[in-house]
Amino acid sequence: MSGKLYLVATPIGNLEDITLRAIRVLKEVDIIAAEDTRHSLKLLNHLEISKPLISYHRHNEEIKTDGLIEKLIDGQNIALITDAGTPAISDPGEFIVKKAIENNIEIIPVPGACALVNALICSGLDTKEFAFYGFLPINKKLRNNKFEELKKENKTIILYEAPHKIVATLNDIYKYLGDVNIVLARELTKIHESFIRGNVSKIINEIDQIKGEMIILIEGNAIEEVNENAELSIEEQYELYEKQGLSKNEIIKKIAKNNGVKKNDIYMQFLDK
Ligand code: SAM
Repeated sequence: MSGKLYLVATPIGNLEDITLRAIRVLKEVDIIAAEDTRHSLKLLNHLEISKPLISYHRHNEEIKTDGLIEKLIDGQNIALITDAGTPAISDPGEFIVKKAIENNIEIIPVPGACALVNALICSGLDTKEFAFYGFLPINKKLRNNKFEELKKENKTIILYEAPHKIVATLNDIYKYLGDVNIVLARELTKIHESFIRGNVSKIINEIDQIKGEMIILIEGNAIEEVNENAELSIEEQYELYEKQGLSKNEIIKKIAKNNGVKKNDIYMQFLDK
């Protein structure tokens, strides 16, 4: 009988963020495939787990996958871990999962820390609907296309970014999307964990002092395809929503969406309301 492939989430900073099940699975499997074996050894030593480790990262995953699949077919159980967080989310995992499916191998998620989820839940932005775009492309044309896509996105946008590229990406956000409301979720679960909220221009001015691992969240673009009530004047729309019992903030958000303008512009018109 084939072995099982476990995708095991590991901490994103605080070593306490590993589940009892993850520890048990890591103790029970035959092999652990790790993105960076030296990095993962620190966690495994901390958990007093000693197992054969196989290096499995972005640059060797296509070569290494066949060997791992053979071992799974031979009946060995394998856990895949990455440097931090949940495998296959902007990390190795997707490729071997597809191959495992082709080979009828059982795949088992072992949930735990995932940076994007923790950034989102504390962001204060809309959590009902969100769009995760991972790392933006570096290639100029592809990056430009991606920003064109982001312009149309009306859900909360979540981006991963490397610390040394944060400033460039914030500048691009300002250039393509305007002075949007963003949140930087920084150093999650670590000593310097913080959430920096505000318009992107304000945050760019503060960025010198902002260091560490970060996730960028952008408030959903207020422009909607369907211009609900757009035939009414802005004042009439305000009155209508007020009668419906919406709060001032909700009204402004709706009018901005209906008319394809920034919330701040509407807000300025109704300062005295
Ligand atoms: N698979 C991982 C996950 O989803 O949890 C993410 C791995 S991805 C290679 C690394 C990126 O995740 C970083 O560049 C950063 O944007 C984000 N990240 C990871 N750990 C973080 C932390 N502790 N605080 C803030 N962002 C973090």
